[in-house]
Amino acid sequence: MAIRNWGVLIMEHVFISKQDQLEKKLEQWKEQAGSNIKIDVQKSFSGHNVYAITLTDFSVRREEQTALYVAQPHAHEPATTAGMVDVIEQLVTGKDLLGNPTTIDRHKVLSQMILTFNPIGNPYGRENAPYLYWDGSEVTNEQFWCIMRGEEPDAPGKMWDRLDIFDTREIKVPDPIGIVYEPIDEFRYVEPNRSQLSSFFKLFHQMDKQFQYQYWLDLHQTEFARSASQCLVMLPLDDVRIDKQIKDENEAWAGQISQAWQEEGFRVTPPFPLPYVGQQAEYIRKNWGEIDRRINRITIEVKNNAADTPPRRQMDAIESSILKTLRRLTNS
Ligand SMILES: [Zn+2]
Repeated sequence: MAIRNWGVLIMEHVFISKQDQLEKKLEQWKEQAGSNIKIDVQKSFSGHNVYAITLTDFSVRREEQTALYVAQPHAHEPATTAGMVDVIEQLVTGKDLLGNPTTIDRHKVLSQMILTFNPIGNPYGRENAPYLYWDGSEVTNEQFWCIMRGEEPDAPGKMWDRLDIFDTREIKVPDPIGIVYEPIDEFRYVEPNRSQLSSFFKLFHQMDKQFQYQYWLDLHQTEFARSASQCLVMLPLDDVRIDKQIKDENEAWAGQISQAWQEEGFRVTPPFPLPYVGQQAEYIRKNWGEIDRRINRITIEVKNNAADTPPRRQMDAIESSILKTLRRLTNS
């Protein structure tokens, strides 16, 4: 019992995924990073601040830097947040949250890059998540999916629909509504990465006007319910017409991250394009097509809610995808 409590205490210090934990870190980072940090905010309908945390050496000219956006849209995928927070901690202080020295050359990264992190895309959904992380010990995947999207009103125990946007005056909705959705007014909800009305996309466009990102690392988690895999990089939809130069770069980038994971002992599925068809593909084309034609973007998936990938490992896999990206983009 004592050991488990000690473990929980450490995890609460290291696994930062809730809004109040993030805001506490933000206060420290603002002091520690001095002129190398800029905080931008998008106010959500629920009254939360959705943060864009930019780290760079602002004295270097923009033309000499590469701009990377790192973000996560999904409330039920907390290790993406925890991984980002630990990387920010390293870039700001030179040490990770456990006090170990960072392996990254942060001065090189900050002078050669503009880095923007959106660690919690949907704070309302994240606040409603019943657990700090998902380790497979509390709920089955079926229960987890019902928390994520809500339960079918007429078929309890069955996960509800995946919609880009819905209006509670027009359709019968789950009670409670799943944590993946963000309220955007009194009646309407969106899935953040499937509607431009989300705080996730509004914040990106606000930031992109300032920094014109060249790269976007899109962080996610999935259950890998029918596979032994723990990690995967997904490329943009195949039928979005992307220049060969961008496509080749995405593939090389994805390959390097996959290799890094393998070296760290993760079971990795080789990269492939987003597998969506029908309505889901339409949502993606509508919201990401233009971005994917202009910016190098890949999607990271790390295993969630399973005993074989505890929260610390989930976090490690996310971190490793970010750190590998920083090394790639600074040739270090
Ligand atoms: Zn996701």
